[in-house]
Amino acid sequence: MKKIYGIIGDPVGHSLSPVMHNAAFKKLGLDAVYLAFRVPLEELGDAIRGAKSLGISGLNVTIPLKEKALSFVATEEVAKKIGALNTIDFSSTPTGYNTDGIGALMVLEETVGEIRGKNVLILGAGGAARAISFYLDASGAMVTLANRTEGRSAQLASNLRNANSISLGAELKNQIRDSDILINATSVGMHPKEDATLITADLMHPDLVVFDIVYNPIETKLLKEAKRAGVKKIVDGVKMLVYQGAASFKLWTKEDPPVEVMENAVTAALIR
Ligand code: NAP
Repeated sequence: MKKIYGIIGDPVGHSLSPVMHNAAFKKLGLDAVYLAFRVPLEELGDAIRGAKSLGISGLNVTIPLKEKALSFVATEEVAKKIGALNTIDFSSTPTGYNTDGIGALMVLEETVGEIRGKNVLILGAGGAARAISFYLDASGAMVTLANRTEGRSAQLASNLRNANSISLGAELKNQIRDSDILINATSVGMHPKEDATLITADLMHPDLVVFDIVYNPIETKLLKEAKRAGVKKIVDGVKMLVYQGAASFKLWTKEDPPVEVMENAVTAALIR
């Protein structure tokens, strides 16, 4: 029987996950389909219980449901610590996982190699920043967090092993000078406000790795600024999207995900 997977969120119509996972199913010849379901926050519990009753095999969970979803499924320890999940596997007892941080870590390891000992400045303290900072901290990076709402970054830093927080203001200049990696984990620069960036070229140095997790547009204003500053290693958000999706795919199907096919599907959809 055809297996059904999907993503729940609100809104969810813009999600690239259906394109990405359906391309992977096709490539591997799996009899499965991946759909998008709009689920309002107040109906999340019904949706998860209903998905189990309907025999749905796996779900991704996106904004604004990631945190509340923890109340409705057993959850792996890491996702509990992050305080959010993005994947539910229904193959036995429904279980929640968070693959966002794994996706970002894989991208960075591919770009810079060993993360241990690297100075990483993360902009943001929302769901994605929490997942990424948890994985980088656990990998031995020295994490600094800067967020518009300073209380959130201070709180997040206090829950990590080797992290601190600064303001998004004057302190940034020196912090970026001393950083190996800058990650934008805010939604600043995302479509339709594509001209926005929290950091401009004058604050960057060529050896800084600049990673923007925003993937729509693929080349954000921050990445354009990085180019202008002569930054040698510039990373967009597509790979992270693909790697977090690939990690969910592996959890559900136990098959090795066709990462290149998934990336091509996402890139083609973004360019259209
Ligand atoms: P979220 O939980 O809503 O967090 C949003 C973050 O952005 C918060 O830190 C917020 O600061 C900050 N922010 C929003 N508007 C701002 C502004 N005008 N100035 C300064 N800071 C601002 O969202 P999320 O789930 O973390 O996602 C953040 C972005 O990452 C989104 O664009 C999402 O599409 C992208 N993302 C990409 C991937 C990927 O695989 N590439 C995965 C997950 C998310 P406050 O705390 O002050 O509100």
